[in-house]
Amino acid sequence: MNVYLDHAATTPIDPQVISHISGLMEEVYGNPSSIHGPGRLARQKLEEARKTIAESIGAKPKEICFTSGGTEADNIALISAVRVHGVKNVLSSPIEHHAVLHALRHLENQNEINLHFAETDSKGHIDLDFLEDWLKKYPGSLVSLMHANNEIGTIEDLEKIGSLCHEHDAYFHTDTVQTIGYFDFNLAELPVDFLAGSAHKFYGPKGAGFLFHRSGCEIDPIFHGGGQEKQRRSGTENLHGICGMMKAIEVMDEQRTEFAPRMQKLKQYFIETLQSEIPEIEFNGDPKGESHYTVVNVTLPHFQGQPLFFAHLDRAGIAASGGSACSGGGKSHVIQHLRLDSDAVTVRFSIGRHTTEDEIDYTVHKVKEIIGAEELV
Ligand code: PLP
Repeated sequence: MNVYLDHAATTPIDPQVISHISGLMEEVYGNPSSIHGPGRLARQKLEEARKTIAESIGAKPKEICFTSGGTEADNIALISAVRVHGVKNVLSSPIEHHAVLHALRHLENQNEINLHFAETDSKGHIDLDFLEDWLKKYPGSLVSLMHANNEIGTIEDLEKIGSLCHEHDAYFHTDTVQTIGYFDFNLAELPVDFLAGSAHKFYGPKGAGFLFHRSGCEIDPIFHGGGQEKQRRSGTENLHGICGMMKAIEVMDEQRTEFAPRMQKLKQYFIETLQSEIPEIEFNGDPKGESHYTVVNVTLPHFQGQPLFFAHLDRAGIAASGGSACSGGGKSHVIQHLRLDSDAVTVRFSIGRHTTEDEIDYTVHKVKEIIGAEELV
């Protein structure tokens, strides 16, 4: 049996998205910046995608800038807050994705910011009292905190964090790469200034993403050239990828009321089955509290050697990961931050819209077999 449980790394492309992109690839080939017919048709498709994506998250079309994905959107937001809006003090958390952490470290190394880190509890939640005290000390700053952590699934309350930021005249950037499409967003009301999304996390193609930047929170381009995206992001737009992203968000919006509760139940089933089959297993994050319904992160007993475990898992046909896909199998900075015994084997399973109970049963059976076999060695 082959089981894909790495949807937080990337999702397969939805068949409706594939047929939408294929049709466009045959019919729409113009450059959206060209003024002739084929160019105008491409422009029309691009703006239709912008409008649909904006409507889906309660934003205005002009607040959406297309990017190559989440990393680029995060980078543009952080760099813009500093270079356009004159932010000097930045607060983030040690368990952010590297797209945020490394971008901020870069700005710090260039002496452009003073970088501070919020405290988290053992489940990965941000200490809101700490945040409030920090904001009182550094008004007019930038706060960058993710919505759902990509490794442990812990979810932060964007409404509360954003309101605190705005009470203290701070900008709020949030990395919502794991949650766009999975939850309802209404940016007309949510106090967020910059937000990042990436199509390949919600059954769209790789290489397409977007940055939401609230009107008044203007951005500084990191690519310079032809002035596409109203001077915000030069380079011919990835039209087919962007239109695929539009279709993917439409499918998520149409089907969310069906798949979200079903996946929530499946996650619960996964947790209970793991607990009953492997009683000493430990769950990381906040699995029974504020947590994304896609992610189950566990630390396994009786097994030494992360690479060996994943080799066994792969041989059993199960795709899961130790942390974020981009950490390349290395030690997870998130788990290292949250657990003292970070040498133990930690696995992130992330379920998808098509994951079944049978696949969960097979996975739990194989995990038990692998750690049992090691005990005998
Ligand atoms: N932020 C988070 C939380 C992610 O999970 C990822 C992808 O792993 C990224 C940012 C980067 O997104 P992309 O792969 O689209 O650059």
